[in-house]
Amino acid sequence: MVASLDALEAARLVERLARLVRMRALKGGLNPAQWEALRYLARANRFSRTPAAIAEYLASTRGTVSRTLASLEEKGYVARRADSEDGRSVNLALTRKAMDALKRDPLLTLAEDLEAGARGRMGDMAAGLKGALKAAIARNGTRAFDACFSCRHFRKDAHAGAAMPHHCGLLDAPLSDSDSRAICVEQEPMRA
Ligand code: SF4
Repeated sequence: MVASLDALEAARLVERLARLVRMRALKGGLNPAQWEALRYLARANRFSRTPAAIAEYLASTRGTVSRTLASLEEKGYVARRADSEDGRSVNLALTRKAMDALKRDPLLTLAEDLEAGARGRMGDMAAGLKGALKAAIARNGTRAFDACFSCRHFRKDAHAGAAMPHHCGLLDAPLSDSDSRAICVEQEPMRA
């Protein structure tokens, strides 16, 4: 398939916007990779807050991610904890400082600009970008990292009435409402 001129222009715009966000990020005291790691940890569920999952999501190497996390830890944005179920694994958590920093995330300005540029058709724009991301993920053979509620292992209301009303059929673990909206390294799309 040959891309239309409009599609080529849209691709250039996406690239330019991403560069401008990275430029703004540098002014905020954190580098783009550090912002990306914070954003990931703010959205990931408890099974996915590991250095390996971050490396996979960011399509980066473990060494690079390890240096990014060490720097975030030193600056007080990230805390490491031993996994309660597997003492050999590391689970990462955002600190209060990180949560405050994310309120001034440069990506929020991009979201406002997109909203203004879409002129009431933000849903269509988001759906188009999501479709493009899905195609890129399939081509690259990478994990989807989509929301838990859209996973084929998600069992909605399996424990109706409990504090964690849903269930993960793959990991055999209860899930809260907020877990259901988080992204997950193990997420697998529903079968068509
Ligand atoms: S249901 Fe899917 S996305 Fe949710 S925790 Fe389980 S594997 Fe992850």
